[in-house]
Amino acid sequence: MLIAAEPLTQLVTEIFLACDAQPDIASRVAGHLVEANLKGHDSHGVGMVPAYVHNIRNGNLQPNAELKVIQDKGAVLLVDGQLGFGQHVGREATGLAIERVRSTGVVCLGLRNAHHLGRIGSYGEQCAAAGLVSVHFVNVVGHEPQVAPFAGREPRMTTNPFCAVVPRTGQPPLVLDMATSAIALGKVRVAAMKGEAVPEGSLIDADGNPSNDPNILFRQPRGALGPFGGHKGYGLAVICELLGGALAGQWTAQPKQPRAGNIVNHMLMFVLDPEAFGDVAQFEQEVTAMIDYLHSTAPASGHDRVRIPGEPERETLAERSSHGIDIDANSWRALVQAAEAAGLDQSRIDALTGA
Ligand code: NAD
Repeated sequence: MLIAAEPLTQLVTEIFLACDAQPDIASRVAGHLVEANLKGHDSHGVGMVPAYVHNIRNGNLQPNAELKVIQDKGAVLLVDGQLGFGQHVGREATGLAIERVRSTGVVCLGLRNAHHLGRIGSYGEQCAAAGLVSVHFVNVVGHEPQVAPFAGREPRMTTNPFCAVVPRTGQPPLVLDMATSAIALGKVRVAAMKGEAVPEGSLIDADGNPSNDPNILFRQPRGALGPFGGHKGYGLAVICELLGGALAGQWTAQPKQPRAGNIVNHMLMFVLDPEAFGDVAQFEQEVTAMIDYLHSTAPASGHDRVRIPGEPERETLAERSSHGIDIDANSWRALVQAAEAAGLDQSRIDALTGA
């Protein structure tokens, strides 16, 4: 199914409205999800809608919950998403940090109990648009772990995303935004939906043998994702678990915590105003010189050119904005079923999608 961003956003907005979300929240969440598809991250796009509708219906996601400030110590803030849409409470929390950093120079904000935050890069981009540097450590809890620690064969963590962003005046920011697992869980889900294999080295089966069959994560005995980058990626994943999970969320993947089928993100984010360091022009000049130097690298065999983090997303955004978003048949069927479960009738779905 090839669909343009606009009708897809409208469809998803109406699904959440039918779930009794407030209009501004419904359209904000829909916009975030479709932007993830536009930027090439189908794993964090509208394919999440069936899970969100399911979680609203079973009370795991509170569609109109607002951000609550728990502790305000100036440059250190602790806020609670109260299991509201991550795309809403996460944006509000980031807005709070951006507002505060103007007076403090640096802010460390802990966000706990957000329902799935989606693409973490979106919060980094929010900071970059305000001219700020940001760093985000996130864990994912509320369900069984799927990522094995380095040298282990049993899952103990989840895909714990890490994000860091450097703003550039008049230029797109550098956005490093990644799961710390070999690939994002959603990419395993999308591969399973499409009946495709995942790249070598991403998964191990329940006996600890390498596998590229995405279905091993969704059947018993369950396999596991591995960390990216061996022991180093595993180390970064543990830091996300401990800073995002233990410090901000007080809820890690350890087995005494709930695992009742929810998707909860906790995030510790640092926001830094380059002005606090003084010479912003010099900083930006040096950033540009370094990025130019990276771009000037001769490409290795099999590659067209060297990019900086964030560039692939912008290229895909340009391509999908003009040609549309291609959604595989299984994901589309699941989206339509979610729309029906939310109470939209087929004629409205057809009208929205031009079917
Ligand atoms: P990815 O592997 O596609 O990209 C990771 C990073 O590498 C990006 O910053 C990208 O710009 C950069 N990159 C990719 N190709 C590059 C190239 N050729 N040259 C230079 N840089 C390049 O991303 P991923 O690990 O699959 O993560 C996908 C998304 O999943 C992210 O948005 C992440 O936030 C999200 N995620 C969210 C959760 C959650 O619980 N909310 C959990 C895991 C992942």
